[in-house]
Amino acid sequence: MTVQEALEYYRSIQKNRHALNHALGVLYYDAVTAAPSDSAEGRGETMEYLSNLIYEAENDPKLKEAADYLSAHKDELSARDRREIEVFLRNNEYISKIPQEEYVAYTVLLNKAEAVWHKAKAENDFASFAPYIRDIFETNKRFAQYYKPDMAPYDVQLDLFEKGLTMEKADAFFEALRAKIVPLLKKVMAKPQIDDRFLEQNFPTEAQRRFSDYLMEVITIDPTHCTLRETEHPFTTGFNKKDIRITTHYHEDNVLSSMFSVIHEGGHALYELHSGDELEGTVLSGGVSMGIHESQSRLYENIIGRSRPFVDLIFPKMQEFFPEQLAGITAEQMYLAANKSEPSLIRTEADELTYCLHVMVRYEIEKGLFDGTIEVDDLPRVWNEKYKEYLGIDVPSDREGVLQDSHWAGGNVGYFPSYALGSAYGAQIVAKMKETVDVDRCVAEGKLQPITDWLEEHIWTFGGMYDPMDLLERCCGAPFDPSYFTDYLERKFTEIYKL
Ligand code: ZN
Repeated sequence: MTVQEALEYYRSIQKNRHALNHALGVLYYDAVTAAPSDSAEGRGETMEYLSNLIYEAENDPKLKEAADYLSAHKDELSARDRREIEVFLRNNEYISKIPQEEYVAYTVLLNKAEAVWHKAKAENDFASFAPYIRDIFETNKRFAQYYKPDMAPYDVQLDLFEKGLTMEKADAFFEALRAKIVPLLKKVMAKPQIDDRFLEQNFPTEAQRRFSDYLMEVITIDPTHCTLRETEHPFTTGFNKKDIRITTHYHEDNVLSSMFSVIHEGGHALYELHSGDELEGTVLSGGVSMGIHESQSRLYENIIGRSRPFVDLIFPKMQEFFPEQLAGITAEQMYLAANKSEPSLIRTEADELTYCLHVMVRYEIEKGLFDGTIEVDDLPRVWNEKYKEYLGIDVPSDREGVLQDSHWAGGNVGYFPSYALGSAYGAQIVAKMKETVDVDRCVAEGKLQPITDWLEEHIWTFGGMYDPMDLLERCCGAPFDPSYFTDYLERKFTEIYKL
């Protein structure tokens, strides 16, 4: 074998694998956007077939041989190829240790779980979803043990979403946030609350749809490469850098919900749309980790979307979409309403200050489910107790409690810390960007392209070339420091609430 032959073989299999993942991704996207509710069975069979092919492509002995050969000759490879083989072998080590039947069975399980979760949430029926949570967590735990038998399974899980993250690091990070956020929230709660009653009106879905298209345009999303559809739970998926799909959920009684979810998913989409051309079709294309991904979405949603210049910019247009509802309301009132901070039930609609407390609840629960200190059947009770402890509120139903997120149904166990990490990364990234880009002015003038360009140059174009912490350090010129985020929150909420 020569390096050239090994590379050619490696690439041909990657191409097949990419096509299979594309097909599987479209099936999932169809399931949540367009397929009839009772259609999981037939789709499950197709998914089973495709998963088998993916597993076989991934575990092709000749592929591993080629990758090992390339790894042994890495000095002869370009930086990109070297990194690609490194990441491929890392992923391959995880998947190749899982027996094929278990791998395929898990895909089938997730397809069913998604449908059951939908119904369970709609009917507020935790008991019907509980067996799926148990199966999904047990499967992940088993896979983690196959992969790294000497490591705590939840550490394996965290590392899958955010390379290098461990419970020890996550505990320290959450502790640093808690120490700042809890006293700040206490001060906020002692002040008179922001009046946002003008939002308690009907905002028709049709007008909200047009508003979403406008928002996507403002943040520089190319609509010929990214579409927006509606799902129960907003998300982003991408098949390649020219085909990104984002979704939202319209609530006629809550116009801000979709507004901020469109901007959030738009941040994910921008990241994917601007991944480096030369990485396309490789394991390095798209975002490097969920933490960095969430840093981009949370940065757009909050640091930009919930800023005064942004609300000032879009408010006149918003009044055109909702002329009766917003008659006599000012941009300042909208800005304050968008930043009203109070303990609430739903994570995706939480304000910036309380948001990370929602994440901490989920992190502790996942940790407990992994180490056996929490049983699945006790989840509703534990969830409600933790909401009382962290946010001081009573959870009236599982629908607004433990059933609210789709992550566990989708097998995304260990994902939640990414949201809090992402929020903190985003604050540090924007602080760095502000050294050379007048962010507030770009936003005020409605010209967000310099922001897009900066993020493309410093983050997006690199795809998976660097591990998350290395990428952040290269971008910011300093190691990760959560105090950028807590300082940002303190400045912002001190000003808004006159603390
Ligand atoms: Zn997100």
